[in-house]
Amino acid sequence: MPARNSTPSLLPTAKVSRRGADRLRQGHVWVYRSDVVSADGIAPGVAIRVADERGKFLGTALYSSASQIAIRLISRDLVENLEQLLRQRIAEAISYRDRVVHHADARHTDAYRVIFSEGDFLPGLIVDRYNDICSLQILTQAMDAEPVRQTIIAELMERLHPASIAERVDARVRELEQLPPRASGLIQGDKSSTVFSMNGIRFCFEAMEGQKTGAFLDQRENYAAAAECARGEALDMFCYQGGFALHLAERCSKVTGVDSSRPALEMADRNAVLNGREIEWIEANAFDLLRDYASAGQQYDAIVLDPPAFAKSRHNLDTALRGYKELNLRALKMLRPGGVLVTCSCSYHVALAEFLEIVGEAARDVHRNLRILETRTQAKDHPIVLGIPETSYLKCIISIVSN
Ligand code: SAH
Repeated sequence: MPARNSTPSLLPTAKVSRRGADRLRQGHVWVYRSDVVSADGIAPGVAIRVADERGKFLGTALYSSASQIAIRLISRDLVENLEQLLRQRIAEAISYRDRVVHHADARHTDAYRVIFSEGDFLPGLIVDRYNDICSLQILTQAMDAEPVRQTIIAELMERLHPASIAERVDARVRELEQLPPRASGLIQGDKSSTVFSMNGIRFCFEAMEGQKTGAFLDQRENYAAAAECARGEALDMFCYQGGFALHLAERCSKVTGVDSSRPALEMADRNAVLNGREIEWIEANAFDLLRDYASAGQQYDAIVLDPPAFAKSRHNLDTALRGYKELNLRALKMLRPGGVLVTCSCSYHVALAEFLEIVGEAARDVHRNLRILETRTQAKDHPIVLGIPETSYLKCIISIVSN
């Protein structure tokens, strides 16, 4: 059998330093620009062979001429036909969802992440499905190349038969990748709104509105887990369009959702009506409201904390940890004995151990005991790949409070 690196190839070769090569050999798929030794004349966004400094073949990758992540490995083999590989990867991603979403869910779910970038070995590509509308995000030069786009769209149309495909453009990402500006919009079909389901609960969807691609699909399994433990009076902090609140309303006698975004709350209210639920929505800054409620002696039986990522980078880690501590401390003060705290962090830079430590400190400060019922993470349609720590970001701790 010929050695892998002896196969003649049409692809240009980039050489990476020892550190870059070691990183790839350990299972990661990124090489930073500082670890690229030579990439002379390689065009933006093309497929390349990656080799170590001695020329030993390491895999096939997608190249970015602009990003700090210069190289994203797509295969440890030599891939001459990129489009064929993309089609195969998309098919695999879809059949993985058949296993972990459709077959695993007792209750109807037609909204989930179909393609999770590195988590599906398709770096730079995110596709979410909201019933009959797909929402697509392209994050790299390679995925933005016209033939690649066409392959992705054709494959999604053929396999999922959506009524339409919307593209959500992140202007900052395009700038960082030195890609020409592009507007968000429908790229297939003309349907821009629909109703989707998660765990049997229905949500309105507007393809061109909302944060992320529309909903926080990564919390789907945590919604169900939270609803299972909660009872009595519940407070959903950072409720957005009501994901947790609507699930809690199935079990709890009274539910209040709080968010600082009015458009999010308007959508949350439409969702409540759609499900025949009465939920109180409050537009407020969560920190202020928790402080006021805690000092007024307000009590709850269940509190959800799902703030935005406080630590966007390592640099503001300390501030982020202080933010998490304050929120958890105030929430713990307001929980009745036997009450349930569902506390989340979607900051990749805050590790689970660190998050547990902060929640524990908050509990000690207010003299409450916490028993952990579940330590959870993102839903399985956002797969975590061992060796690529960046694929794991969401923490959700469900615990019971006692005095
Ligand atoms: N729990 C939601 C997702 C929350 S995302 C779900 O499952 O769908 C974070 C939310 O926090 C966003 O809706 C954002 O509008 C809101 N937010 C950000 N800063 C806030 C603040 N200081 N006070 C209240 N809400 C805030």
